[in-house]
Amino acid sequence: MSSDLQYDLHSHTCVSDGVLTPTQLLERAAERKVDILALTDHDDTRGIVEATDAATRVGVRLVPGVEISVTWNNTTIHVVGLGIDPQYAALAAGLAGIREGRLERAGRIAAQLARFGVPDALAGAQRQAGNPELIGRLHFARDLVARGVCKDVQSVFKRWLAKGKPGYVSHRWADMEDAVGWICASGGQAVLAHPGRYELGSNKLIQLLTEFRAAGGSAIEVVTGSHTPDQFVRFARLANEHGFLASRGSDFHSPDEHWRDLGRLAKLPDSCTPVWQNWTLN
Ligand code: AMP
Ligand code: MN
Ligand code: MN
Ligand code: MN
Repeated sequence: MSSDLQYDLHSHTCVSDGVLTPTQLLERAAERKVDILALTDHDDTRGIVEATDAATRVGVRLVPGVEISVTWNNTTIHVVGLGIDPQYAALAAGLAGIREGRLERAGRIAAQLARFGVPDALAGAQRQAGNPELIGRLHFARDLVARGVCKDVQSVFKRWLAKGKPGYVSHRWADMEDAVGWICASGGQAVLAHPGRYELGSNKLIQLLTEFRAAGGSAIEVVTGSHTPDQFVRFARLANEHGFLASRGSDFHSPDEHWRDLGRLAKLPDSCTPVWQNWTLN
């Protein structure tokens, strides 16, 4: 019965800001009894080929995915694409454009950190990154931990990298309509990632859900490593009220940091319609 399968539909490798290789990620997923894993690296799909091979070997079904960085109403939001075709030209070109913007942003982050007394952060972040085209704040955070500036990555975000802190720079990511369009046109489903993490009042959140739906979004994450159990209930209700399917994923990045581990997830609330309801798995 498909309802007994363990779905984990949000995870990262060293292609973005996770630490495991695609092979190591799939091995860990198999050990942890995940049946269906989506690989959803930020703004890059180049881990999917290796992940697909590894998935066959370890007996986990792999859903090709991506997590796209989007600017909506001056707020950064993340849109997960599930079942995408990484070869689809408009998607590939859109992601390449986002990665260029990321590199330019990385220089500005490093300049800010230098201004506030932390020099050479770009080189440090590059040393942490498994993919030279994909530098994110977590790479800066790991470098600052390695250099003893802070005790863990969460402290780095709190002190340096979160919005309003000295190393934070504003940045314009993709438009939501574009990101959702690339995902859907490539054959995928667009899922609003961790909606509880955006600091939006309830009117703005409803506006986001309405516009995401109008753009072609089909699901929202209900059970994620970023939500509390109260938020599972709240977002299950919002999913149903706004006609969204519900997704479930750990957002695993690393065994050694604070992240929820693969497969360690609550079930979706019974009221939800799972995003996988019409999937045919082979
Ligand atoms: P970026 O896309 O470069 O802005 O980086 C966003 C990533 O940073 C997220 O996907 C998380 O991996 C990580 N992140 C964001 N906030 C925090 C936090 N408070 N603690 C640890 N990691 C965080
Ligand atoms: Mn991340
Ligand atoms: Mn995210
Ligand atoms: Mn993520």
